[in-house]
Amino acid sequence: MGRAGPAAAPRPPSMDDVRCPVCADILLEPVTMPCGHSACLHCFERSSCCPRCRLRVSSWARKRSREKGLVNAELWDVVRRSYPEKCQRRLEQRDGQAAGEGGRLYSDS
Ligand SMILES: [Zn+2]
Ligand SMILES: [Zn+2]
Repeated sequence: MGRAGPAAAPRPPSMDDVRCPVCADILLEPVTMPCGHSACLHCFERSSCCPRCRLRVSSWARKRSREKGLVNAELWDVVRRSYPEKCQRRLEQRDGQAAGEGGRLYSDS
């Protein structure tokens, strides 16, 4: 509210647009399912169906991760650009928890 930043994106998403239904925090490496709902990658990996509408997505996820990866790069880009501090903080938290699980990160091309 009342934050006059540079107009980089035409319509920056509101926090509600980029909130994960599982952890109720900002989408981290968002996965957008065939139903159009999104969840963080690590939240998504814990369930085999959409947390919003219960659509079964396990076979879609297997296929998709083989083809081009699960993360919706476009949305992830928007989230990171809109809420860089939140993303940074969450990534740091996660990296602290998942220490030792190296080599599986999605690097920027
Ligand atoms: Zn989440
Ligand atoms: Zn859904």
